[in-house]
Amino acid sequence: MTDILDTRPDTTAVTRSPLDDARSQLADAIKVLGYDQGMYDLLAAPRRELTVSIPLRRDDGRVEIITGHRVQHNYSRGPAKGGLRYSPHVDLDEVRALAMWMSWKCACVNIPYGGGKGGVVVDPKKLTLREVEGLTRRFTTEIIPLIGHDCDTPAPDVNTNAQTMAWIMDTYSMHHGYTIHGVVTGKPIAVGGSLGRNEATARGAVFTLQQWSKASGQPLDGARVSIQGYGNAGSIAATLLNDEGASIVAVSDSTGGIHNPSGLDPAKVSAWKREHGTVVGFPGADGVSNQEILELDCEVLVPAALENQITSANAPNVRAKVVAEAANGPTTPEADEILYDRGVFLIPDILCNAGGVTVSYFEWVQDMQSFFWTEDRINDSLKGIMDRAFADVLGMSERHEVDMRTAAYMMAVARVAEATTLRGLYP
Ligand code: NAD
Repeated sequence: MTDILDTRPDTTAVTRSPLDDARSQLADAIKVLGYDQGMYDLLAAPRRELTVSIPLRRDDGRVEIITGHRVQHNYSRGPAKGGLRYSPHVDLDEVRALAMWMSWKCACVNIPYGGGKGGVVVDPKKLTLREVEGLTRRFTTEIIPLIGHDCDTPAPDVNTNAQTMAWIMDTYSMHHGYTIHGVVTGKPIAVGGSLGRNEATARGAVFTLQQWSKASGQPLDGARVSIQGYGNAGSIAATLLNDEGASIVAVSDSTGGIHNPSGLDPAKVSAWKREHGTVVGFPGADGVSNQEILELDCEVLVPAALENQITSANAPNVRAKVVAEAANGPTTPEADEILYDRGVFLIPDILCNAGGVTVSYFEWVQDMQSFFWTEDRINDSLKGIMDRAFADVLGMSERHEVDMRTAAYMMAVARVAEATTLRGLYP
């Protein structure tokens, strides 16, 4: 039998793709857990994928053919679940990697989903709203053989939103002749969306920080927090952490950052951003760059913007005691090692930002039962899932003396592998 290491992609290659990274992480977890090559091969390949050509009639009458993908990485634990992104940079290998990461995220927090992802190779900012709607509806029609409330439920991702989900739900429902809310999550509340979904990612991240605080004995009350990215995840995390008594000393967006060692008021910063389109220029704060914000004197660092922000170049300068990855993939594998060696506690993305998919799961449950919960019930249930997941991953990390990311992957891969083994191979 070939050793799993022999099938590992070269992680030092300059051209390494997200799929190389995803397979390399899987290989590491498979080895530590003691599974064989067959399990690696089974989990390294997506179970299903569909590539479609979407004919889009532009407003000027031209017809353009646009490529779209839907990938289901694994559905051993339940229906495939994962976002749909619109971007000119979408490619099939990236969608495969993102689908695999969704399998691990859902398994890490132990919700009964597999992993899926979709992508359309398009820049929606270059289309009119009517064209985006037409594209969305035709893409939905093309992938109807794969999606459904009981087999694969998309959700918003880069450049898609609640409106996109409403169009998908409507198109899917029109094809079936009746309303089927549960085919997508992240919908507007008026058409089967869930209370608490908008805040869920940030709220889940804050629950994991509370658990870190409990485990480490470091109080959140009075902790200084630096947040890179002031969008959905970052701005709501700022508000919730401020409510916990933490002091938000710096925040940033794509245009730059602001820093005030005495603390910023998130409500006032959000109002400023609404008015000026940026946090930059907020009165009483100094300017700070998006790189400097990662190295500020603080206890809590929340990357909530983009991937590959904490690298081998700046990880030695991170001064925070804990890094809470609200963003997906903000820390490179090399930086992971540096942070671990320096004793910086890292709450990995597949745990830290899993609040979003968890409340998507609640939305789907509510849709299936046509019975909608109160926001308190949603937030309490989210807390239960996040607290248990944090304890599971921390326990795995302590038992195997590995960092939290490796532990999260081990936890997730073990759960998917167990389901796969118990179900057996058909036929
Ligand atoms: P968003 O678009 O609402 O906000 C992104 C923020 O990052 C914006 O403030 C933007 O200005 C800022 N930004 C962009 N480029 C930047 C740069 N170079 N430097 C600093 N800031 C920059 O997106 P979001 O939904 O908050 O997502 C943020 C991250 O969280 C992403 O990695 C996303 O994948 C992850 N995430 C979000 C959710 C969710 O439910 N929203 C769930 C899971 C993971």
